[in-house]
Amino acid sequence: MRYCVFGDIHGNLEALEGVLEHAAGEGAERYVCVGDIIGYGADPHECMERVRALTHEIVAGNHEYAVVGRADIEYFNPYAREAVRWTADHLSDEEKQFVHQLPLVRRVDAFTVVHATVHNPGLFGYIESALAARNSFQALETDLCFVGHSHVPVTFFYNEDGDEIWYSQDTEVPLGDFSRTIINVGSVGQPRDDNPNAAYVLYDSDLQKATFHRIHYDVEFTRKKILDAGLPGILADRLLVGR
Ligand code: ZN
Repeated sequence: MRYCVFGDIHGNLEALEGVLEHAAGEGAERYVCVGDIIGYGADPHECMERVRALTHEIVAGNHEYAVVGRADIEYFNPYAREAVRWTADHLSDEEKQFVHQLPLVRRVDAFTVVHATVHNPGLFGYIESALAARNSFQALETDLCFVGHSHVPVTFFYNEDGDEIWYSQDTEVPLGDFSRTIINVGSVGQPRDDNPNAAYVLYDSDLQKATFHRIHYDVEFTRKKILDAGLPGILADRLLVGR
């Protein structure tokens, strides 16, 4: 089975279309979303519609929780807070209801999907260090897990025998040789690793291999949409540099 695992779309329709087109060309059969379909970008409704038409395998991100008042936005930066309010104004009641019932963690076949961390998914912390990864590995009930949230593609490995944790940013990740693996699939709509191209992962369960892809799209067009929508300019400009 080939899974397209993607998330942190953040209302960026052009990036989403680019990823879905590429994934279809790679033979993706199932789609799994690690959350944050909305927030920051100008097309929350369109992105929601596109993702929902493709899959039910969706977990809630902090931006989903924020627009329906399930997460405290006190810790969001002012631009993110403004985007949360703007997004809430541009979703239908039905969409808000849908967002409200999204789970934080999901089991999909033999793997786990969560937006932030496995050990405390509702706190929306980041897996950015070996220590943070250790907590999530200890709480993980499957050998493989996909996450998002940091907008930086990276894979964490855990070897139970040696009790070792390490990470890699290789674009080809062989699975199965290690006890456990947590893959951050990066961000479709607002990458933050100095690469503006949309990110997603194609996971082939037969070959036991995950591949990171980066997709070029018309960033300038998306940037202009965000400005025209009256959203903070910084949310438009950061897309150009992937930061
Ligand atoms: Zn995000």
